[in-house]
Amino acid sequence: MALRFKNSFTRVKEDFKPIEEGKIKIYTCGPTVYNFQHIGNFRTFMWGDLLRRYLQYKGYDVTYVMNITDIDDKIIRDSQAQKKSRKEFIQKYVDAFLEDLDSLGFLKPDVQPYATDHIDGMVEMIQQLVARGFAYEIDGNYYYKISAFKDYGKLANLDMDGLKAGARVSADEYEKDSVSDFALWKAWQESDGDIYWDTPIGKGRPGWHIECSVMSQKYLGNHFDIHTGGVDLLFPHHENEIAQSEGCTGSKSVNYWLHGEHLIVEGKKMSKSVGNFYTLRDIMEKGYAGVVVRYLLASTYYRQQLNFTFQGLEAARNSLERYNDFITNLQSYNGGDSDNSAEAIIAKAKTGFEDALDDDLNVSGALGVVFDFIRDINRLKAENKLSVEERDNALATITAFDSVLNFRYHIDSDDSDSSEIEALIQKRADAKNNKDFALADKIRNDLLEQGIILEDSREGTKWKKKV
Ligand code: AMP
Ligand code: ZN
Repeated sequence: MALRFKNSFTRVKEDFKPIEEGKIKIYTCGPTVYNFQHIGNFRTFMWGDLLRRYLQYKGYDVTYVMNITDIDDKIIRDSQAQKKSRKEFIQKYVDAFLEDLDSLGFLKPDVQPYATDHIDGMVEMIQQLVARGFAYEIDGNYYYKISAFKDYGKLANLDMDGLKAGARVSADEYEKDSVSDFALWKAWQESDGDIYWDTPIGKGRPGWHIECSVMSQKYLGNHFDIHTGGVDLLFPHHENEIAQSEGCTGSKSVNYWLHGEHLIVEGKKMSKSVGNFYTLRDIMEKGYAGVVVRYLLASTYYRQQLNFTFQGLEAARNSLERYNDFITNLQSYNGGDSDNSAEAIIAKAKTGFEDALDDDLNVSGALGVVFDFIRDINRLKAENKLSVEERDNALATITAFDSVLNFRYHIDSDDSDSSEIEALIQKRADAKNNKDFALADKIRNDLLEQGIILEDSREGTKWKKKV
């Protein structure tokens, strides 16, 4: 099957063709660093990471850009409330964001540009838009004139004739029913304090939308392959990005627009303003490793809403353990007599995995294939029908899948408390021998509370840490 994506612009699944053979350029709208990111934000970044990893798995040379929005109304408001400079205020959240990306097993973006490092480029683009008749100035503020851009509204599928367009909007976020000329540049006001730039178009600061047009052009060129973001960015942010970029160049800017559905909580979008959010840190403090959250966020098809619950997180943890136990146990398997069925199982898994992901990154389908593969290989192993060579092929297969999924985790086993755990395991075995099952259960449960899982088998009791 050929690789295809549902393109938000055309609203249909289209075969994917890169602009330049073998190379793919992707831009993702990054975080606004006025707070810790919540796991809803990370859901959107997560499928960007999966997309990138899968394209690399397929052999493409991928350039992945994710910006950092380090200037906006909320940053001004909150840095002032905390009596901190803008730079000092954002740094804490930038550091936290980068640390969170690490905890969640993201590949580092190739370029992670900050908006405020590109003020000159924004000013130049605004000047070009004015020169081309797409922007105008009122009292030091610059606005984009949407009536001048004939394709305005195409991405969001707006019926521009039927809409009552408002005159002008200064806020960066607004709804479809208040479609209006939007701010490219906001003249300095007293409430901005010392947050402003002195530029050839005056003293002020950029609107939100202009930064992504400037940074995507700078790092990926006027025309690039894929642009991603959450569905809330489709309008007005991405609509405005198209108007700016294409107003400037006169030609198409992005071939495929991909938008992911939201992470929701009890039917509502997880968001900072509603207050129904968890940061990654909140969840890790409850004892879940980053990779568990990665599994949860990555395992649902991106164009489907994902309802967050702790039950879902527990289920993710269980699946993740099954996946990792499979690899660990396969690595220590010494091989048996082949019945020659492994090759077909491996081939079927590879085809199934790729067919699912080729189909608009259908990760739920791909995971179904992975767990069928795990079940089938485990069965061969249990029946001692897997040769050493087949074992190695199965390991190579799951390792290749894991270059996309990144669900493999490593827990330090050289813990100083291991002798204590071994002693408790012995105590539990003694209790069982003495038919003191209450004590045996208590020891198992106490250990579980400390994050230690006991597994009984014919060879005795083994322990592992909960992830
Ligand atoms: P922001 O920091 O608000 O600019 O958001 C960063 C990214 O997170 C954007 O791509 C948003 O679309 C996305 N986002 C925000 N809330 C959610 C959510 N509840 N679920 C999924 N993505 C979200
Ligand atoms: Zn953006």
